[in-house]
Amino acid sequence: MTLEQIASCVAGYDPNALPVAQAREFIARLVPTVRGIESVAIRSALGRVLARDVISTIAVPAADNSAMDGYALRGSELSAESASRFRVVGKGYAGDAAGATVGVGECVRIMTGAVMPPGLDTVVPQEFVQVDRDADDGRAEGERISVPPGIVRSGDNRRLAGEDLARGEPALRTGRVLRPADLGMLASLGQAEAPVFRRLRVAFFSTGNELRSIGEPLPPGGVYDSNRYTLWGMLQRLGVVELLDFGVVPDDPDALRRTFAEAAAAADAVITSGGVSVGEADHTKQVMAELGDVLFWRIAMRPGRPMAIGRIGEAVLFGLPGNPVAVMVTFYAFVRDALLAMSGAKLEPLPMLRAACSSAIRKKPGRTEYQRGIVSRDERGEWRVAITGSQGSGILRSMSEANGLVVLHHEQGNVAAGEAVDVLPFEGLI
Ligand code: AMP
Ligand code: MG
Repeated sequence: MTLEQIASCVAGYDPNALPVAQAREFIARLVPTVRGIESVAIRSALGRVLARDVISTIAVPAADNSAMDGYALRGSELSAESASRFRVVGKGYAGDAAGATVGVGECVRIMTGAVMPPGLDTVVPQEFVQVDRDADDGRAEGERISVPPGIVRSGDNRRLAGEDLARGEPALRTGRVLRPADLGMLASLGQAEAPVFRRLRVAFFSTGNELRSIGEPLPPGGVYDSNRYTLWGMLQRLGVVELLDFGVVPDDPDALRRTFAEAAAAADAVITSGGVSVGEADHTKQVMAELGDVLFWRIAMRPGRPMAIGRIGEAVLFGLPGNPVAVMVTFYAFVRDALLAMSGAKLEPLPMLRAACSSAIRKKPGRTEYQRGIVSRDERGEWRVAITGSQGSGILRSMSEANGLVVLHHEQGNVAAGEAVDVLPFEGLI
């Protein structure tokens, strides 16, 4: 499908005032998913995308076992009215094979994780049990214990075989971005390796005559290239990509042509910054249009209005604006999910906080705004958010100081001080 054909499938598509939601829908239709699958050791699979369902070949746990240190017995023998007495006839440690059958009025001293002896279904934690001191000669066997009434119910403190994972049940699904808990799940199934999609190859470079790389002297009018570092950081955090840094390219048609062609041949996705402003007689735009099938958008958002999207050869092109904050915001708004989808990941919506905005914000309906904010808890433990100083799209400090993006949605109007707004926090636990 050509880009124009894809565009025609998106309801309300207007390239000169494209709502964020439509742009996201367009991109979702455009991007292909990587095909290659490789098997990697589970520690190397952290942050990678699972390429096949993992079906459990064993039950976890394999047998009913104790959740506490205590005494295993038959719950049906516990009296609801008075203390119940049992004779200790054995001991069970984690790792022991299931013991012998236990008779009526008998129990077993049991440790956490030990297999429940046949017929026993309940564990009384040791702190609730009175040990009959007369019989206490230091050995558990022969001891008598007394369990007060109403302390435990039948079946308490027992983990059932297969309660974590039943045999034949899917433990993890295709498209899962593997997290620490998932590595543990794979290990609990005895799996040394996991099938994952191959890493996406992402090429990126900055464009602009004014840009200098770190280490070069800064001439008058020169600017150090920061976008390649923020982009690198955001791509690293994504975890699913292999990065190809093509450096800084001047606004020179030949150099741009060469770099675009090389990057597109080497990568699944090419991300550039700068040179896509609408109405600008910019070489970057011309070269993109010449080499590929590319659309130029004005997105109804702030910051980050101009953006190019398309294909150069087999690669997907994301031509981001040049302003340092706009690069980050457009990356989070569009590129992040697109790259995850290309990597085979099943997308989960990012969790948002609702926080009371500490100041009023002027906002026109009809565009999405991403303000940089600092979220904290107020005295009552409720979330509040303060906007970080100047919100100019060139002021990277606003992003560095912030710990979240305040999202003012497309239809939303002015925000009053104290009104609740949505915030995308930068940090998460996993
Ligand atoms: P452009 O979109 O190319 O017109 O750039 C918009 C603004 O962002 C200009 O002020 C550029 O100097 C600045 N800019 C573009 N690329 C970078 C970069 N890689 N690092 C820092 N600033 C940049
Ligand atoms: Mg430029």
